[in-house]
Amino acid sequence: MITSLKKLAQKLHLNLSEFAADDLVSDFPLQVSESFVARIDPSNINDPLLLQILPQKIELQKAPGFNTDPLSEKKYSPVAGLIHKYYGRVLLLVADSCALNCRFCFRRHLREKITDWQKVFSYIKNNPTINEVILSGGDPLMLPPKELKKIMDQLAAIPHVKRIRIHSRVPIAIPKLITARSIQAKIPVVLMIHCNHPNEINDEVVECLTLLQKQNIVIFNQAVLLKGVNDDSEVLITLSEKLFSAGVIPCYLHILDKVKGAAHFYVNIEKAKKIYLKMQKKLSGYLVPKLVVEVKNKKKYV
Ligand code: SF4
Repeated sequence: MITSLKKLAQKLHLNLSEFAADDLVSDFPLQVSESFVARIDPSNINDPLLLQILPQKIELQKAPGFNTDPLSEKKYSPVAGLIHKYYGRVLLLVADSCALNCRFCFRRHLREKITDWQKVFSYIKNNPTINEVILSGGDPLMLPPKELKKIMDQLAAIPHVKRIRIHSRVPIAIPKLITARSIQAKIPVVLMIHCNHPNEINDEVVECLTLLQKQNIVIFNQAVLLKGVNDDSEVLITLSEKLFSAGVIPCYLHILDKVKGAAHFYVNIEKAKKIYLKMQKKLSGYLVPKLVVEVKNKKKYV
């Protein structure tokens, strides 16, 4: 894992000091896997993968409307680390670390994880409408496999829980971590990976996704529309094609949640709609992810 600008600059043979500084963003530091860095084009200072992980000085500029909890998750948390916002589903913050620290992450200022599991299980047991439990964080696949299995087994033992959804960027960031483990459970598992640019998908990633599919895991993708990274219909079309070739269904394209420090990535809805229209013209319907935005704490289809 690379956690210092100096090491990243050495790896890429780039001078990054003009753009970035370790100490300016110490509350959400640089963190990136060697595998992801290997997919960055070192001749391009604006490489779309580099921009996603490089802490930049621009993050410190104030932007109206951008705050530390853009989805008001604290308001929907009846138990610490459990978020109950939508009917039928709860989201659990099971891990507080990630394989990558994505600079646009809407939880970059809210790094917590469940400490009282008994309270969490009681809440789910006492709410029979909950049929899907989403494991998120942080990244659930950064947990030791035994710890994750124990959580999944306990969830699977609750009769009204029909499936477990895992949100993870590990298959993209550290595909080798997956090839060494199984994430099966006694109930169906859905995996929602997070991939924003076609350059993130290499042979290692495809191998990892194939392995997961052999475990009967259904895999979807969610992406975030990011200025300078993927705000281009051709890039997103290629992403959908590459995902599908790897057995992954493109599910969501999110408008950026207005988190403090990420304003430079924001693509407004008008521009997003134009990009989306071009995607719809060129792609089969099932390859077009749903363009969504969180408005007044509800997911809205644009
Ligand atoms: S992997 Fe996901 S949770 Fe972790 S920093 Fe990136 S977007 Fe946020």
